[in-house]
Amino acid sequence: MTDTQVRDAGGKPILVIGGGIAGVTAAIEAAEAGCTVMLVEKLPYLGGRVTRSFKYFPKLCPPGCGLEINIRRIKGQSGIEVLTQAAVDHISGSAGDLEATITIAPRYVTDACTMCDKCVEVCPAERPDDFNLGMGKTKAVYLPHRLAFPATYVIDRAACAAGCTACRDACAYGAIDLTQPPARRTVRVAAVVAATGWAPYDATKLANLGYGKYPNVVTNVMVERLAAPDGPTKGRIVRPSDGQAPASVAFVQCAGSRDENHLPYCSAVCCAASLKQVTYLRELYPDAKITIFYIDIRTPGRLEDFYVKVSADPHLTLIKGKVAQVEEDPETHDVIVTAEDVMHGRKVTERVNLLVLATGIVPESAGLPAGFTLDAFGFVARANKTGFHAAGCVARPEDVSATVQGATGAAMKALQAVVRSAHHG
Ligand SMILES: Cc1cc2nc3c(=O)[nH]c(=O)nc-3n(C[C@H](O)[C@H](O)[C@H](O)COP(=O)(O)OP(=O)(O)OC[C@H]3O[C@@H](n4cnc5c(N)ncnc54)[C@H](O)[C@@H]3O)c2cc1C
Repeated sequence: MTDTQVRDAGGKPILVIGGGIAGVTAAIEAAEAGCTVMLVEKLPYLGGRVTRSFKYFPKLCPPGCGLEINIRRIKGQSGIEVLTQAAVDHISGSAGDLEATITIAPRYVTDACTMCDKCVEVCPAERPDDFNLGMGKTKAVYLPHRLAFPATYVIDRAACAAGCTACRDACAYGAIDLTQPPARRTVRVAAVVAATGWAPYDATKLANLGYGKYPNVVTNVMVERLAAPDGPTKGRIVRPSDGQAPASVAFVQCAGSRDENHLPYCSAVCCAASLKQVTYLRELYPDAKITIFYIDIRTPGRLEDFYVKVSADPHLTLIKGKVAQVEEDPETHDVIVTAEDVMHGRKVTERVNLLVLATGIVPESAGLPAGFTLDAFGFVARANKTGFHAAGCVARPEDVSATVQGATGAAMKALQAVVRSAHHG
């Protein structure tokens, strides 16, 4: 059975939970093979965490390009229904015949929105800008980010002042409905793909590394937003304490990962991510002194070329050794890093203007409905016979190219259940 024959034969849809690169890929691949897909994303936009990255390793291209191509593929596919601000509450049944209930939170802005921005101009209330990890604010009515899909504003009602109707009064198109109720859907599907991705490890749990205590200790995900031209500093990677350009920066690899007290596994992408962030810094600050403290540099496969290229930087020093302690000079807010230098069998102490913690990847599986098989760390089993599959970083830490391949595989496994459901009714 091929292409639209699957749909025509009455195969049930596939439910994809999570609209990051994994979920978007699984949805597109399944739809292009002839399936109907329901793609459920909890945020008001698709794209997931890569939309917050400035560039992709190893090619150092902007993630927005890939996102735009995928959005075009979704728009050209009548077989995909996208539900944003949505959550799957419950799934029952068995492979080939599952029933899912979905709740969709109101957006309060309708399709009549022309993105004229008038509502934002008049809105008196502010909220933390979650797209920029809380570094900066948006109005209560906001467009999540510049390439957001759906390209529609959304209102965070929790941030609105009681009784305020300023945005609705200012909207010339009648596109604001402050009384919109939540919606509920029940759907029958053949299979489910969990693609709910990852969250950064909570750096405040790494007590010896000073995050949350010293302003100039930041995390790798923060650096992605600081480096982005549409980020809170308009692309300048600066010290949070004084907004000054750093002349010296250090990275702490395995901040949480490969540590039995935190995440015993390797987060797979952090070495390449830090090397990528070295290129951001180098472009901004040609003479900045950069140090990477690492346990092992792990850049498998073709990423080896990226490692060789970046590590040739004459102002970059790689020190093999775990960071034991991070302190702060209270006058300058410089950060003082004490580490072991394994290769030279000595203790090193380095003073830097900015410290970046390469925090690891934690699976975002807690919000999934029951039915998925989870391991001890919360990663979801990729494929089994139950009709519950997984793709992307909720299955294991991996980069975008591995995610895309795994998501295509998950779509294939889900497709098998659809074809079986078409044969057996
Ligand atoms: C600092 C850093 C830099 C990186 N840089 C690169 C790079 O340059 N190149 C590269 O190849 N890889 C990079 N990566 C890895 C890359 O971010 C991941 O491969 C990618 O995000 C995996 O996509 P995903 O779809 O699995 O997860 P996510 O991007 O996390 O997407 C998951 C989606 O699911 C949604 N979701 C979560 N829970 C629910 C729920 N219960 N219901 C509905 N929706 C839900 C989320 O809102 C999100 O939209 C980097 C990682 C880090 C930590």
